Amino acid sequence: MKFNTKVIHGNQHHDPSTGAVMPPVYNTSTFAQKSPGVPINHYEYSRAANPTRQALEDALASIENGVRGLAFSSGLAATDSVLKLLKPGDEVISMDDLYGGTYRMFSRIYQDFGIKFHFVDMNDLEKFQSLINANTKLVWVETPTNPLMKLADIAAIAKITNERKLLFAVDNTFATAYLQKPLDLGADIVMHSATKYLGGHSDVIAGALVVKDAELGEKLHFAQFATGGTLGPQDSYMVLRGIKTLHLRVQRHCENGMKVAEFLSNHPEVEKVFYPGLPDHPFHAIAKKQMIGGFGGMVSFTFKSGKKADSISFLEKLKVFTLAESLGGVESLANHPALMTHASIPEEKRKEIGISDDLVRLSVGVEDIDDLLADIEQAFR
Ligand SMILES: *Cc1c(COP(=O)(O)O)cnc(C)c1O
Repeated sequence: MKFNTKVIHGNQHHDPSTGAVMPPVYNTSTFAQKSPGVPINHYEYSRAANPTRQALEDALASIENGVRGLAFSSGLAATDSVLKLLKPGDEVISMDDLYGGTYRMFSRIYQDFGIKFHFVDMNDLEKFQSLINANTKLVWVETPTNPLMKLADIAAIAKITNERKLLFAVDNTFATAYLQKPLDLGADIVMHSATKYLGGHSDVIAGALVVKDAELGEKLHFAQFATGGTLGPQDSYMVLRGIKTLHLRVQRHCENGMKVAEFLSNHPEVEKVFYPGLPDHPFHAIAKKQMIGGFGGMVSFTFKSGKKADSISFLEKLKVFTLAESLGGVESLANHPALMTHASIPEEKRKEIGISDDLVRLSVGVEDIDDLLADIEQAFR
């Protein structure tokens, strides 16, 4: 089955009792049993499993080419369950440019539990390999990254993690399964903030994991079941509904993203544009190799003046773009990383990574491109 069919039918079936084409929202915490310990139909208690969540989890496994999907109450809850596979003394090697909340969890929660983290440039494969030792258990990569659109070569990293028998997890939030298939490229775990493109309508907080090994899936399900970060039935339904149009939306996000990136590149007020689809992007070659059919809808840029005040006034004047955190919904959003999403990263560290005070991040939506470009132009003026 091809991807555009999978998003609609992959691992899905009509409701057996009524033929309902979409799964009912099973708003129930518990399920009747025939005899003590003998459920009527597999389900016992909704923290362990719920039919609406199951329908979403089966769809997630299908679109990422995995065998097991798990749906969580947020993207961070999904990441948290992966970290729960570890023990004190274990080491994690992670990309140095990470979603702020992931960095916060690693450095301010799990470090205190005795897990050691190395944050490195994953494009320096020699440095990465030199950090691997007997305690190394997990490698964590996000690609493309937020907000600087750095990339990591998933297949090249997977070759090393597979040889050294390390778990390899990829945060696939920005690319989505439409553009990038980490499991096919050799990763063990795909993680999503389903809040973003999978849900796609800025109306739900949700997370996901997908794996291609059933035993690993069982361990992750145990961590989720034992600690409780599950997604409720209504939210599961909404993410499932979002996935059905993922291909259509991401295709348009890519088209509009490319046009906005090109427009900004040629604009006299703009210094630098960060978009993996531009030929002068430092990771364009990797993007062409591992992203299929497009480069996504996330575009960041800086101002020729280098002035923070210019970026603030630009953001205040946008009308079609909404000034807000988050990304990946149908509506275009604009964000000032240094003052909003990445404010929790100390200024020194932000400078080191390259998140300057005049950096603007756009989540380009699926509106008419003419209106988006006109909005950007009037804000510059
Ligand atoms: C938003 C986001 C997360 C966290 O997901 P939540 O659903 O907000 O918990 C993780 N990674 C990336 C890349 C994100 O954009």
